[in-house]
Amino acid sequence: MCIDKKILYNITKFTALDWEEHLSAVFWFPSCNMRCPYCHNPDIVYGKANITKKEALEFLKTRIGKLEAVVFSGGECTLFKDLPNFIKDVKELGFLVKIDTNGTNPKMIEELVEKELVDFISLDFKAPKEKYQKITKDKNYENFLETLKILIEKDANFELRTTVHTDLLDENDINNIIQTLKDLGFDKRYYIQNYHHQDVTLSDMPPQKKVLDIDKIDIKTLSVNFRNF
Ligand code: SF4
Repeated sequence: MCIDKKILYNITKFTALDWEEHLSAVFWFPSCNMRCPYCHNPDIVYGKANITKKEALEFLKTRIGKLEAVVFSGGECTLFKDLPNFIKDVKELGFLVKIDTNGTNPKMIEELVEKELVDFISLDFKAPKEKYQKITKDKNYENFLETLKILIEKDANFELRTTVHTDLLDENDINNIIQTLKDLGFDKRYYIQNYHHQDVTLSDMPPQKKVLDIDKIDIKTLSVNFRNF
């Protein structure tokens, strides 16, 4: 791939929030194959690339010894075909790498894990099968499931997250997800994230009328963590 081709929407030069254990830069990839109504980043989902790979790597060279890691986020970073090579270049500079993904590209995730190119993966479990397409507008729940199975089978270093807006998901939906995870033998951290209202979302999501009742969530046999409740 031409190193001068624009590939990134933006770079967050410094954050301690995206990967709590590591001071990181965030590379934001434009475009996404989902349309989650609560998405906080419609500017990125509909945005264009502004920064070249060369510029991104030059920036990182100035951060050696100051930052520990790079988070590849978006948008959906696995839509970018040259992602494995890009990550390879970043790791050669000595940075740890985390990717945020919606799990729709199992082949690429498998390649990244097999080649030991990622140190940590945050995978979104958007919704149980019955609601997956309605919420994400993506038809391929099976691709997501394949990604999840690959990560479990390969014992990859990853976490799962579900964002809950109670107009879209209720306690039964979350318990269905937990049952799926138990059936698959998932033994990592599962985060249930309470929707945080913002004025700008992809589909003008209103504030929640009620918050998920976490007392109704089956936390007995899985490591379930609640964020922002
Ligand atoms: S929240 Fe949904 S639409 Fe927004 S970037 Fe993530 S997967 Fe794409």
